[in-house]
Amino acid sequence: MMKEQNRLDPFLLLKASHGIALPLNKGQEIIIENISGNQVVDTWAINQHDRHEYMAMEHTRSLNSHIFFEQGMKAYSNLRHPMFTLLSDQTPGHHDTLLCPCTEQLYQQLGVKQYHRNCSDNFHEALREVGIELSFTPASLNLFMNVPFKTSGELDRLPPVSQAGECITLAADMDIWLILSACPQDITPINGASRTPQDIALYLPNTPEGKHE
Ligand SMILES: [Zn+2]
Repeated sequence: MMKEQNRLDPFLLLKASHGIALPLNKGQEIIIENISGNQVVDTWAINQHDRHEYMAMEHTRSLNSHIFFEQGMKAYSNLRHPMFTLLSDQTPGHHDTLLCPCTEQLYQQLGVKQYHRNCSDNFHEALREVGIELSFTPASLNLFMNVPFKTSGELDRLPPVSQAGECITLAADMDIWLILSACPQDITPINGASRTPQDIALYLPNTPEGKHE
């Protein structure tokens, strides 16, 4: 995958600390560029034709027999249907499948007194913008999130190992809404040592120009 070619594709900016819901039809691809290298992207998928079929991390881990999401793996739904594939990955991989999307309560527990933007609210805000209400928040796939583990089972939370400009490509295996949140976490170093949420670039290589604008 050539980054210069990506620049020619229809482009969207996922603003730092915000979310977006994009319709991807079966076979359609999306390139997610980590502009800074340090930004985690919480990711969900919902069946366009049945909002009660959604990406389920427990089935994804189980069917892949893996706790990370790696190149070639598929994300599966609660009905165990493939929803999308990690087609290519320029990063060292190890995308987290274990930890929760951040919530308002999580920031309260970190000592934040006022409202703090969070991935769970970004998920619902992005869906509401396309006319979808869901009464629950599924577990997220945490792209670029670096959560190494010890054999004792202990988890760590470290800055991403991806470099600025590295891309991953997802391909839809059914008609989905893909929901992405550029994680607003600025208390812990999960989005890099600078603790500064960053924008993410999205390219839609096989989408007609203007379809998502
Ligand atoms: Zn988050």
